[in-house]
Amino acid sequence: MADAVFTGPEPDLADLLAARPAFAVHAQDGLCFEGVPLNAIADQYGTPVWVYGAGSMQARYAALQAAFKAQSLDVHIHYAVKANDHLAILSVFRQLGAGADVVSQGEFLRAQRAGIAPQNIVYSGVGKAATEIEAALAQGIGQFNVESAEELEMLSTLATHAGSTASVVLRMNPDVDAGTHAKITTGLAENKFGIAAADIPELYARAANLPGISVRGLALHIGSQILSPEPYATAYAKAADMVRTLRGQGLEVTVLDLGGGIGIGYHDEPGMNLAAFAAVVKREVGGLGVQLLMEPGRYLVGPAGLLLASVVLQKQAGKRFVVLDAAMNELMRPALYEAWHGILPVGAHLFHGAATPADVVGPVCESADCFAKDRALPDLSPGARVALLDAGAYGAVMSSSYNARPRAASVLVANGQFHLITPRQRLEDLWADEILI
Ligand SMILES: *Cc1c(COP(=O)(O)O)cnc(C)c1O
Repeated sequence: MADAVFTGPEPDLADLLAARPAFAVHAQDGLCFEGVPLNAIADQYGTPVWVYGAGSMQARYAALQAAFKAQSLDVHIHYAVKANDHLAILSVFRQLGAGADVVSQGEFLRAQRAGIAPQNIVYSGVGKAATEIEAALAQGIGQFNVESAEELEMLSTLATHAGSTASVVLRMNPDVDAGTHAKITTGLAENKFGIAAADIPELYARAANLPGISVRGLALHIGSQILSPEPYATAYAKAADMVRTLRGQGLEVTVLDLGGGIGIGYHDEPGMNLAAFAAVVKREVGGLGVQLLMEPGRYLVGPAGLLLASVVLQKQAGKRFVVLDAAMNELMRPALYEAWHGILPVGAHLFHGAATPADVVGPVCESADCFAKDRALPDLSPGARVALLDAGAYGAVMSSSYNARPRAASVLVANGQFHLITPRQRLEDLWADEILI
């Protein structure tokens, strides 16, 4: 999707490395991530394997916090679980003090399983089912981000029945074009998300009078992979206006949830300028006297993960095809969003070979199973390993076992060591729950 905004020349291997300080090439060990040779991980656990770096996550979390701190802003970070819902990753963010933003009961339970307290969890999503709401209420969830009048009424009824009070913010659709890929834009009036600004004052007043509801404020989330602070400035200015309008009506507003969407550099371009972003937050909403929340996903985990794969074969068919043992059923973003992912070879000698164009594909029986077209890469013989970069967000969570391909293993690198956090699925597990009649 970054293709929609990236206009520079394609980075070569050296450019990719230079933009990613967590990677280094050692003459003996080849490509290393957070100090661990990727060959060591592949030797032990095979490929394809997801590799995540706790150090990268910690550094990214710290950078975001520092940007807010430099503006004297107190913004509570709720990690958006849908970007990568692995328990080990949720646990990294819990240890940093993050809460969670969830969009289903499954994510809510995952976050709790990783030790995140229910009061520290906010529930977003356009279609929360009654059973999911009941479960969240019973566990004492911190906040519901309500997306429609219908949901508000349903929540009031369910909370009243349960004898509890739901903390609520209304998700306002600010009708702002986030300048990102159409499939990940959420803040336009035509999108299914949120409540039109024009409807907020009346609904907020209604919420203030509904039983079982404690309405606290507003939320907005305008899309994903946003690289400029500008759309945020427009959206947050609208939110600030709305807070003033509501207060002018005598309504109390104490919370503003700033959403997620901070973009990362998938090529060698810089990601969102965090200092500029934090300055926008300060300028537009810093003086409102509300508790600020933010729900980043991709920014925190995207560059902190990669998919490590092996070359099955190189095929010459008019052009060169590099066929990997990883496929779209692992990493679907290229097929789904035309996303561009950097690809680095793992062998040290491969960084010096001549690079020629190749299509990098998976073995799945779909033309869309293509990771890269005309990518300049060295000669990659069978068994050579490659790393598909920036795959920590919206990677493993979107995996399937299409073509009866078992789920890949995953490994967490932390403090120079690596730990298996999901074993590779066994073939017989693919049908273990099926009923043969
Ligand atoms: C997906 C989502 C996020 C996280 O988006 P990123 O682009 O990964 O930061 C945050 N809030 C809501 C409501 C979402 O739907």
